Amino acid sequence: MNRRPMTSGRADRSGQLDTRAKRVLPGGVNSNVRLLAPPVFFDHGRGCRLVDVDGNEYIDYLLGQGPNFLGHAPADILNAVDEASRRGMLYGAQHPLEVEAAELMLDILEWPEQIRFGVSGSESVQAALRLARAVTGRTRFIRFEGHYHGWFDNVLVKMEDGQAVAASEGQVAHHVDDSITLPWNDISAVLETLAAHDDIAAVIMEPVMLNAGSIEPAPGYLEGMREACDSHGLVLIFDEVISGFRVAAGGAAQRYGVIPDLATYGKAMAGGWPVSALAGRAEMMERFGTGAVNHSGTFNASVMACAATAATLRHLINDPPYETIASRGERLMAGLRQLASDHGLDLNVQGVPMAFHAGFGDGPVTDYRSLGRLDAARYNQFTLALIDHGVWAASRGIWYLSAAHEESDIDETLERVDGAMKAAVS
Ligand code: PMP
Repeated sequence: MNRRPMTSGRADRSGQLDTRAKRVLPGGVNSNVRLLAPPVFFDHGRGCRLVDVDGNEYIDYLLGQGPNFLGHAPADILNAVDEASRRGMLYGAQHPLEVEAAELMLDILEWPEQIRFGVSGSESVQAALRLARAVTGRTRFIRFEGHYHGWFDNVLVKMEDGQAVAASEGQVAHHVDDSITLPWNDISAVLETLAAHDDIAAVIMEPVMLNAGSIEPAPGYLEGMREACDSHGLVLIFDEVISGFRVAAGGAAQRYGVIPDLATYGKAMAGGWPVSALAGRAEMMERFGTGAVNHSGTFNASVMACAATAATLRHLINDPPYETIASRGERLMAGLRQLASDHGLDLNVQGVPMAFHAGFGDGPVTDYRSLGRLDAARYNQFTLALIDHGVWAASRGIWYLSAAHEESDIDETLERVDGAMKAAVS
């Protein structure tokens, strides 16, 4: 294969497309997260590999920011979507596949009783917060440093001098006051806040912190949170948009054995198709059903979304990839540590093997503040070397694994990483 460096000298088809894209798309992208990655344009993806428009091939550990849990273009999902959508894509009314998809999802998750499908994680989070307010008659919610819950005004924050503040121009700044932002994995911070405030409707969290690091809940933390929510009459919301169907079939609730009142899902649930869901007990969810709480959307539960969801969930039930992904992820993590040590690099690799985190500096990282001690700029530079050596990984340090990463792909990844590390230290 003729690999051209992707991070310099852009006189290539990606470079030409980037010039055109920047004229017609702000920043040349359609999601601000993509401003952080080099402007490579992809021709196709298959299994765990991506091929760009210049013919360069990469082993992919971004997986579309997580959704391609079965790899790119999984045949059973494609066939299901193709077959179903030929009968029409959207009815603005009910169809059998939405019932089938919801039933399958409830079978896998076990604890919830009802589902509402949406299009993006951001929207389903908003539905969860609105429902929690309706149920409790209270307004504010507790959320945590470094946890991401979408781009809408009331949840998009950045940390500045230990304070959560609006992260974007144009954001209604006072919507951030709807929430109190606390350090995660610290139950006493939550208990103190609950003792001082009686207007809290909900606690929302990533039950395993995957947007910033890959940090598991401390032993007893989720249980403590469950107890605190029960004793103060709060709704516990797990944002499982990344962790759902990825860290276990039943997501973090199953992996850690703690059941929330509501949970949001997206990404891994539909093999790459854009769909999200809010799940919960019927007693709460029925408020949507009576019309008391509004949740609407033209594209909710489209034929394609439901076909993709049902096919993906059937795949996960019939051929569960969890043990294989975990063992390949562990091997990759160990391999990265070994290579880093061979090259004298202080690479910290940690977290759950299905979505682990790597960064330069001293570990372990236990919360958002300790994540800040890692050298993000240096890692960002390293991801450019990875890309030049045919490994596509996110500059923020997360490595997503899929069912399509075979043992031989892990071996090849480690060879390529070895080359990237050689280049990084030379
Ligand atoms: N919640 C979590 C935990 C997420 O990781 C994300 C997206 N990365 C969202 C919500 C928002 O989902 P979407 O990008 O589909 O709106």
